[in-house]
Amino acid sequence: MQQQPRSVRTIYATSARRAIVDLLKSERRYLTAATIFAALKPAIPKLALSTVYRTLELLVGKGTVSTRAETNGEAGFVFCTDAHHHHAICTACGHVDEVDCDAMERFKLDLLQNQSFVLDEHAVEFFGRCARCR
Ligand SMILES: [Zn+2]
Ligand SMILES: [Zn+2]
Ligand SMILES: [Zn+2]
Repeated sequence: MQQQPRSVRTIYATSARRAIVDLLKSERRYLTAATIFAALKPAIPKLALSTVYRTLELLVGKGTVSTRAETNGEAGFVFCTDAHHHHAICTACGHVDEVDCDAMERFKLDLLQNQSFVLDEHAVEFFGRCARCR
């Protein structure tokens, strides 16, 4: 079977996705779609804001990116590694560190033993100052 050439559209979508992932990987803080768009537009002139939104939605679905509501109500997006973790967010510069979940796992057992509460899900964020801002 002959392989179909990839359409220009597909190649473009792939490079936009890679650019967004690379940007989020290097920034390590929550960025809004508008900020991502403004940062990438000079390098990818054909980039549309709607592509940024669609790509972020796709990456959130895959778990590559996680999202939270920023204080101004806009959605922020940050790169995430595969393993389950939580975010320690620097209140000074916005830097996001990934922290493991050991403490939450102990809390889950503690809840079950002491209050017979079965914890299904949890979402925890930590706020403080990163190594550079301390
Ligand atoms: Zn994460
Ligand atoms: Zn900081
Ligand atoms: Zn956890």
